[in-house]
Amino acid sequence: MTNTNCLEGIRCPQCGNEDRFMIAAKVIVEVTDDGADIASPQYGNGYEWDDASYCRCPECDREGTLKEFHVT
Ligand SMILES: [Zn+2]
Repeated sequence: MTNTNCLEGIRCPQCGNEDRFMIAAKVIVEVTDDGADIASPQYGNGYEWDDASYCRCPECDREGTLKEFHVT
């Protein structure tokens, strides 16, 4: 299946997996004295990543930056 949303253009260069990836994302949390929650949508998606983010393929354990997983 070709990805068309969050994973558009992303595929493991080693095993060809394109279904799921473990990506180190930056998270915006709303913090109060009681604790922290993922920020509400009006402050953005709450988390984000880019080509420089760490990525791991859960199928073959290939690791690298997300840029290395872009389909060329
Ligand atoms: Zn893989």
